[in-house]
Amino acid sequence: QWIYLNGEYVTKENAKVSVYDHGFLYGDGIFEGIRVYNGNIFKCKEHLDRLYDSAKSIMLDVPLAPAEMERALVETIRKNELRDGYIRLVVSRGPGDLGLDPRRSPKAWVIIIVEQLAIYPEEAYRDGLRSVSVSQRRNIPDALNPKIKSLNYLNNILVKIQANLAGVGEAIMLNSQGYVAEGSSDNIFIVKRGVVFTPPCYCGALEGITRGAIMELCAKLGYTLKEEPFTLHDVYVADEVFFTGTAAEVIAVREVDGRIIGSGKAGPVTTHLLQEFRKIVEIDGVK
Ligand code: PMP
Repeated sequence: QWIYLNGEYVTKENAKVSVYDHGFLYGDGIFEGIRVYNGNIFKCKEHLDRLYDSAKSIMLDVPLAPAEMERALVETIRKNELRDGYIRLVVSRGPGDLGLDPRRSPKAWVIIIVEQLAIYPEEAYRDGLRSVSVSQRRNIPDALNPKIKSLNYLNNILVKIQANLAGVGEAIMLNSQGYVAEGSSDNIFIVKRGVVFTPPCYCGALEGITRGAIMELCAKLGYTLKEEPFTLHDVYVADEVFFTGTAAEVIAVREVDGRIIGSGKAGPVTTHLLQEFRKIVEIDGVK
């Protein structure tokens, strides 16, 4: 396995960062999780746009231009002979001193790791996940702004711990006003009487690439899609609930906080969207 580290390819054992790296010391950096389907990078431009927007927002100078970054991604996939899998692209502030000051980190570090993906078993897509809501709140719109995909994931990790303690696959996070925001690392959708709803980003949702693809798909397939705030009550009484994300794709939720959702398994709209999503991922992307 070859890992891209600042322009060089090193083995897993030799892929090391400094203990002075501010990504390590402070979570000061950004990342993307990207899928490779059939040897193609899915929604490469969208991921790079989000990466460079996150970088600009935190005043991080990415040492590669977007076209060079794309070439580095393609080359890393090629070197690892990856046809289907996952890319983790990390840009850290780089090594500095022990103080917070980013001016002491003169050069950002770029790391690209590609891997096979351990995804949910196929029956999870048919039967749906169980989920719970958690007490952590999505912090908006400060430095933990969900639009910045930063390395600062402690809040999401606390949510994941709550999900683990409850023995469920993914949890639901609200924002400080009590509206539904998203999961620990997935966006959330609900379906009621054939209409598909997802929280707007100002409610604390990351502008997920899969979320965007599903919104486009809804338009194409003729489902009405409404981006509007909703509460846990709306989730409990929805006909269908599903999460979207780069790794999970589209996964149904069969139970939330002990309430059975709809039929108690993946509903027709969720199933349809998953099928159509799987069709487009095979042909979309760049060579
Ligand atoms: N929300 C959060 C907090 C995430 O980390 C992710 C995964 N990147 C998502 C949502 C889903 O976004 P995407 O579809 O771009 O993977």
